Amino acid sequence: MKNEKCKMKSVKKPVRMCVVCRNRFFQNELFRLQCGGNKELITFRGTGRSFYVCKECTGSKKFVNYIAKKCGVDKEKAKLFILHFSFYT
Ligand SMILES: [Zn+2]
Repeated sequence: MKNEKCKMKSVKKPVRMCVVCRNRFFQNELFRLQCGGNKELITFRGTGRSFYVCKECTGSKKFVNYIAKKCGVDKEKAKLFILHFSFYT
């Protein structure tokens, strides 16, 4: 029984870095996103390059800049992407 408890403790949850604030979070606290083929913001689909962003940073200006650069769109378009993106579905 004692050994089992020890095992549980040593299991590490995966930790990822938010691309905006560069803080580390558990993976389940971050959104995994990517830029699709049509230069749009999408949820990671399993292929291609992805990045993580924390919940707080989804509303930050820096995130808009990041998306603009990453997807190759202007800031206005990046803002719209984020605005219309359904993070919680
Ligand atoms: Zn962040």
